[in-house]
Parts: sequence; structure tokens; C-alpha cells
Amino acid sequence: MRIERLEATPLEIPFKVSFKHTSADRAKTASVWVEAHATHGGIIVGYGEGCPREYVTGESLKSALDWIARNKSSIVNEVTGLESLKEWVAKQEQTIDKDPAAWCAVELALLDLLGKSQGQSLEALLSLPSLPSAFQYSAVLGDSDLAGFSKQVLKYVSVGFGDFKIKLSGDLEKDSAKIACLNSAGVPVKIRGDANNLWREPSEVIAYLDRLGHPFWALEEPLAPRDFAGMSKIAAHTGIKIILDESFTRAQDLRDIEDTPDLWLLNLRVSKLGGLMRSLDLLKHARSSGIKVIIGAHVGETSVLSRAGLTLAAVADDSRVAMEGAFGTHLLEHDVCDPSLMFGKGGRLCPEEWYFKTGTGCGLNIGEK
Ligand SMILES: [Mg+2]
Repeated sequence: MRIERLEATPLEIPFKVSFKHTSADRAKTASVWVEAHATHGGIIVGYGEGCPREYVTGESLKSALDWIARNKSSIVNEVTGLESLKEWVAKQEQTIDKDPAAWCAVELALLDLLGKSQGQSLEALLSLPSLPSAFQYSAVLGDSDLAGFSKQVLKYVSVGFGDFKIKLSGDLEKDSAKIACLNSAGVPVKIRGDANNLWREPSEVIAYLDRLGHPFWALEEPLAPRDFAGMSKIAAHTGIKIILDESFTRAQDLRDIEDTPDLWLLNLRVSKLGGLMRSLDLLKHARSSGIKVIIGAHVGETSVLSRAGLTLAAVADDSRVAMEGAFGTHLLEHDVCDPSLMFGKGGRLCPEEWYFKTGTGCGLNIGEK
């Protein structure tokens, strides 16, 4: 297969509600969209997406587009199939470590293109088992005010969610009120917190959890990114698992914590980890070290990244303790494909409801943007 065109553009889709994040406020997606063209019978197009995030990988939309422009000719000249794609990833490990979301967008487009050119699904192309019949998602609650939060909780509970992640603000009164709101939702709830690197000292976190009354079974990123020693102290002292997200974007991070597998959970997001193949490698490493994972998502991912997350989630199998994302048009004004790939009743996503189970490549019905 010869890549005839590789185009990267910004992808901006408005959100239905502005989604507040501790580190960023946005009202629309901020993604890189890649289209890769080849001729196979007629023209075939592969689609890819990446979510560059300053606060996760240090990337911006501009840096990601620049990275693709710089590496485009090498990719187009050297990648002709799955083997050469793998070779490119291995050879460029350090380059991709610095710009993982940029590469993710390219890689997903190339995998989609290869699948389509060979008449194979993503799973068949990568020699992976096919997708299970359903995936269970957990609900992620944004850092909105209490009124907005209660409304979100009611909505999630009415859909049938019982597994929640809340963003912490560090404002004790506000965070306590949110936890109380969840605990009075009228259904059994399981809660994990995401602090997005709010604190500096383990003692501050331990004291805060005491004041909250230890409501979480797991806590994401309480300290500065990669303060593994500090986070171990919190886990050992409280018995709460620590979820690594901003602290886990490359293979070295996993090597740094693999000796104490019981303390950690890893938040695997295909974009920040530099694409599906690198995510699959990291997942394999995590599983062999006995570390459980959460299949995560960036706010504003379209169906393309949600689809890649399904591949990862299926491989994770019983080492997966939660899934996030697949918001589709619950959050986006419109998606890149129709139907939009998203969770439904009970927070479940059933692949057989989409045609991609038999489709080729990512199998999504993506039209002209
Ligand atoms: Mg997080």
C-alpha cells in the first residue's frame, strides 16, 4: 500500500455544555484530525484523531500540527504496511514520547487505512480477539457548581450508572457536598476521585481525605505528576489505590512503579500514550506486572478515539476495572460519524449495535467533515 496523501487539520466541534476541567476550560473539542488516502480499487481514506493537551503531554494543537508537518514525508515514504508501521513506531520512540497525541492521530488514520485496504477490522489487522458483546462505562462528573453537578448526577442515575468519577476542587465544602449528593442519589454508588495534581504534600492529601470521610476506592493524581514516592505514601497510609494519569504517558513511567503493583491503577488513554499500538504494548506490560487499568478518554474525543479505546478495553479484559468516555453526541453537537459511537442505557456500549463489527478498518461511517 502506498500512502498518497496525509492531511492534518484542527477539529473543532462545539460541546452541548461547557465541560469544566480543573486545568482547562473549553466549550469545543481541541483535536487533531488526520486523513490518509490510498488507492485500492478506488480511493480509500483512513481517519485518525489525537487530543493534544498541554497539561497532560505538554502538546498544543499547533505543536501537534507542526510535528505532523515535520514527520509527514518520512511517514509517507517509509510506511507501506503493518510491519513498516511498527518499525516506524519502534525507531521513533523518543520522538513520539514528546508528541504522542500528534502521532496518535496519524497512527489511527494509518491503521484504519490498512484495515480498509486489506478488508480487515482493526482487531483482525492487529491479530487481536474480536470485541465482546458489551462494554460497561463509568460516569465522569465535571467540576461544575453544585446545581449543575446535581443535575448531571440525576441524569446519569436515570440512565442507570452506578460507577462515578468526580473531579476534586480542593474546596472542602464543595467537594463534601458533591459526595453527599452522590451518596443520596438513591442507588448504590462507587466513587473515585480525580485531583488533577492539586496538592504538593502527601500529608495534605491524607488530611483532606480524612475530612472527606474516605469516600473513594481510588484517587487519581493527587500530587505533582510523577511524584511516585509521595503517591506511594498516600496509598500505603490510606489503603486507597492511586490512579496514574498525568504521571503515566510513556513506558518509563510504568518501569518506575512496576515493583509495587498493588498501589496503582493506570489510566490508559490512547491519545496521550501515542496511539493504539503503543497503548497495547503498555497494557501488556501492565498486565504482566499485575497492575490493573482504567481505559480512559480525553474530554471531547469523537467516535474515532472511542473506537480505539474499545480495542484496548477488549484486550485488557479482566485487568480492566473501569472505562471512561464514549460520550459521542451526549457531549458533542455533532460527531464525525453517523451513528455516533457512544454509551447507552445502563452506561453500556454494545458493538453489535454498530456496523463496525463486520466493517473494515475502524468500521465507522465517517463522511466528509
Ligand atoms: Mg485524570
